[in-house]
Amino acid sequence: MSLKDAYNRKIRDLRISLTDRCNFRCFYCLPHGEPSWAKKEKLLTFEELEYVSGIFVSLGIEKIRLTGGEPLIRRDVPILVEKLSRLKPALKDIALTTNGSEFPRHAEALRSAGLDRVTLSLDSLDRKNFEDITGVDGLRKVFEAIDAAKATGFAPIKVNSVIVRGRNDHELIDFAAFAREHSLAMRFIEFMPLDSGHEWSREMVVSGKEIRETINSEFPLELIENSRGSGTSWKYRFADGSPGEIGIIAPVTDMFCGQCSRIRLTADGQIRTCLFSNVEHDLRGIVRSGAARNEIADFIEEVVLKKEPRHYINDAEFIQPERTMSFIGG
Ligand code: SAM
Ligand code: SF4
Repeated sequence: MSLKDAYNRKIRDLRISLTDRCNFRCFYCLPHGEPSWAKKEKLLTFEELEYVSGIFVSLGIEKIRLTGGEPLIRRDVPILVEKLSRLKPALKDIALTTNGSEFPRHAEALRSAGLDRVTLSLDSLDRKNFEDITGVDGLRKVFEAIDAAKATGFAPIKVNSVIVRGRNDHELIDFAAFAREHSLAMRFIEFMPLDSGHEWSREMVVSGKEIRETINSEFPLELIENSRGSGTSWKYRFADGSPGEIGIIAPVTDMFCGQCSRIRLTADGQIRTCLFSNVEHDLRGIVRSGAARNEIADFIEEVVLKKEPRHYINDAEFIQPERTMSFIGG
């Protein structure tokens, strides 16, 4: 079975947000203060997530990434991973994106439950700058999370950094050196207009090209052939054979919508066909109305056909979505 949109793109990748809540306040994502969180009864339960994931997989979804908000502040995530693992081998991959703060104490349980991959977020290697960006004095915890991921056998370990002009672009070479020293797959992401403060501006975006050239000036890079494939990042190895890898995700200046294979499910059970959608599709309502399995499958197929051809960030009439990255599930 394969799930296809109206532009013949195969949809293989489902991102599930487990909660819109977060214990960090990254300025590019969540506001300081207390946002209005989704009510608990609106969150899909683990049983509902297992059920709908089974339907998604029967339609052609091959990869599920658990995200948020901070997914690991929801209780018992290993139990959900264990439930999702029952969908293998049709489901080929279960991954998690986390800020790392709660990862070390769950690492073993997640691995045993069947989690295949983990991506950690790390926006600065400097304790003070890390706190300025995330609102939390938590750099040491992310380092511990990287160590825990290694010790538990996750490989390769991906580390995401959103690069923002004037905030952490001066650390690019340090990040590359860090990737080399710790054999990490660093992923540099362009800042997207999904911040709660609506402060995003084009001037704050450090382009993928600039990121690559800056790193290349210190550590020459070689493009890994066909590395983008149906993914989002161009991947590079270090020309001197050092361990580590650099990936560049440039949704603003080097759009990859033509290869997009993703859909998203928000914590409150809404399907979003694009990060930048201005509409959502109420899967929770359908599931809780007692619809039959085939009716839910039909609903998903119809929604996928509405997937937008591309994002409109670079168009004059672009409207920033109401929901921020933390609500949508990055
Ligand atoms: N809390 C977890 C974390 O930070 O890894 C998972 C959710 S977070 C929304 C997922 C990813 O989205 C993170 O790597 C984060 O850096 C990225 N992100 C958040 N807001 C972004 C923005 N405005 N532009 C680009 N990436 C963003
Ligand atoms: Fe939380 Fe992740 Fe958003 Fe930072 S990027 S505020 S850690 S959800």
